[in-house]
Amino acid sequence: MSDRNPIVDCAIVGAGIAGLVAARYLSQAGHSVAVFDKSRGLGGRVASRRIESATFDHGAQFFTRRSPEFSTFVDQLLENDVAFPWFGEAGKERYAGLPSINQIAKNLAHSLDVTRETRIEGALRDGDCWRLFNGAEVARSRSLLLTCPAPQALPLLAGVTDKLSPSFLHTLAQIEYSKCIALMALLDTPFPVSDSGFKQFDNPEPIATAADTLKKRGFERPGIILQSGPEFAERYFDSEPESITRSILEALPGSRALKIKSVSLQKWRFAKRREHEVSGSFGTDLDRMLWHAGDGYVSPKIEGAYLSGLKAARAIVSALGEKAA
Ligand SMILES: Cc1cc2nc3c(=O)[nH]c(=O)nc-3n(C[C@H](O)[C@H](O)[C@H](O)COP(=O)(O)OP(=O)(O)OC[C@H]3O[C@@H](n4cnc5c(N)ncnc54)[C@H](O)[C@@H]3O)c2cc1C
Repeated sequence: MSDRNPIVDCAIVGAGIAGLVAARYLSQAGHSVAVFDKSRGLGGRVASRRIESATFDHGAQFFTRRSPEFSTFVDQLLENDVAFPWFGEAGKERYAGLPSINQIAKNLAHSLDVTRETRIEGALRDGDCWRLFNGAEVARSRSLLLTCPAPQALPLLAGVTDKLSPSFLHTLAQIEYSKCIALMALLDTPFPVSDSGFKQFDNPEPIATAADTLKKRGFERPGIILQSGPEFAERYFDSEPESITRSILEALPGSRALKIKSVSLQKWRFAKRREHEVSGSFGTDLDRMLWHAGDGYVSPKIEGAYLSGLKAARAIVSALGEKAA
């Protein structure tokens, strides 16, 4: 793109659940949107990897539905056969994606144009306009929505920090994340972790959860996903893969019975949002037409990211309307 990029109504950084639901809402409201993500795929932490004929959800394992708005979305996923109730008592079900959790992001992204493999390196304010850069300018927009985790969003604003509202910056500075390392093992024989195929350990260190890919969807090769606790991830994040793998497997009860074919690791630097005092569904500097949304607000889950992105998008539509009036 050149420095003559047309001015769109909203530029969105991040095509995770928050960014995608916001992009969809804004588009449906008739606004022009430019969405960027640094990754090859969509969905951010709603991520899956195919290893031979097994599917590993190596970020979020499942989602719940508590709010009417997210419940409507879950109903659409169920109707489209891209989700199913995995386990849990009536009213508190945990839903999984079909054929993978990433499918729910693909479903949200349907008919949206997302520019992938484009890491936004900075945003500048130029008069009434935002300019986004990835080396060169990649977009100009009337409003800007950042949906990457706050520690990734703040550096993008380094060139305009002195022009932004202190309360917006303070809000983002309070949103912190812990790390997680996920180990995916393709197995020759099943390794049951529980009746449902999901186990949450009472002590989340070093392993917080275990998920059985075969039990989860019932039609795949056996595999197991072990997600570390935050302390383990902090300690081992920069260790050699062999050392991480050995340490996680040694901590799994009964791991000697594992018949492992291959192992793969995924490191999440910004995995689980920590508890905080931030209230509100998103952060905003309305005077600068700037928003931040995602699981930093509402709740540190898929549902929280969805609600935050949706509510930020509604606020952006309203602000764009007022500016136009
Ligand atoms: C290991 C793990 C297990 C989890 N388990 C569950 C679970 O079982 N249930 C549940 O509900 N939730 C779970 N979560 C949390 C859930 O995944 C998140 O709350 C939710 O997906 C966050 O969505 P988001 O849109 O806010 O952020 P993200 O999904 O992080 O999306 C942000 C996007 O921004 C992009 N990005 C970042 N920086 C830039 C940049 N500079 N330029 C362009 N793009 C950029 C990223 O690539 C990413 O796609 C889990 C998370 C992890 C990591």
